[in-house]
Amino acid sequence: MSPISVTLLGTGSPLPDANRAGPSTLVTAGSSHYLVDAGRGVLMRLAGAGVAASQLSAVLITHLHSDHLTDLTDVITTRWVMSFAPTPLTIVGPPGTGEVVDHLLAALGPDIGYRMAHHADLGYRPPVEVVEVEDGPVEVAGEATVFCAPTDHKPVHPSIGFRFDHGGASVVVAGDTVPCIGLDELCAGAGALVHTAIRKDIISAIGIQRLVDTLDYHSSVEEAAQTAARNGVSTLVLTHYVPAFPSGGGDEWRELAAAHFTGRIEMGDDLLRVDVDPT
Ligand SMILES: [Zn+2]
Repeated sequence: MSPISVTLLGTGSPLPDANRAGPSTLVTAGSSHYLVDAGRGVLMRLAGAGVAASQLSAVLITHLHSDHLTDLTDVITTRWVMSFAPTPLTIVGPPGTGEVVDHLLAALGPDIGYRMAHHADLGYRPPVEVVEVEDGPVEVAGEATVFCAPTDHKPVHPSIGFRFDHGGASVVVAGDTVPCIGLDELCAGAGALVHTAIRKDIISAIGIQRLVDTLDYHSSVEEAAQTAARNGVSTLVLTHYVPAFPSGGGDEWRELAAAHFTGRIEMGDDLLRVDVDPT
């Protein structure tokens, strides 16, 4: 068994898709599970991967765009209600995460009140601990060693990527970013890079301004591949497909990436699992 595996829980984007959940990636290191981002439908896909909310060592948020955290409330609530003893949830994210989580908990106020009043053994509110980070080691439970570094998703700021190391294997989850020095440093010699990407050629040809606006703060398929190649990454895992391709498709995406990166390229449907071996 590989020391680390990556499961693409949600390969979609803000555009609703019947077959693709919102951005979310599960990193499993040994027996520890780390959830990176919590987009639309995350707990449905986490169930599909055979993991319960109570089993997560931490939730790590790359940035505060809604598509990356819209179902964080579901993670908070489900972990609280489906655990039979206080099970603190660690949420790691860039500065500003604490304020967002405070507001989410405020929005859940009536629900929290109802459940505590109804269940005699639920005598505590959802135990949530927020850790705000920008650069350097991330102190979380579980078997992986976790680092973060700033990415460049401006004007969305701050944004961060994460690197997980375990048993000689390593994976970087970039989130949304254009190529940047912070991501390069995380990626140096990594076994795998999970990178969101958009087809800038297609989006610019469609020409709808609201979509064209997104070109300047995402990486194209080619740019994601170049980041992997430049930093000696073994496997490139593409996700967050804009526009999405049908199940079994993606050949053009693969060709665009392969023109810049000679390593292994993985992409596909929600719940695609990629094993990451030691490098
Ligand atoms: Zn974003």
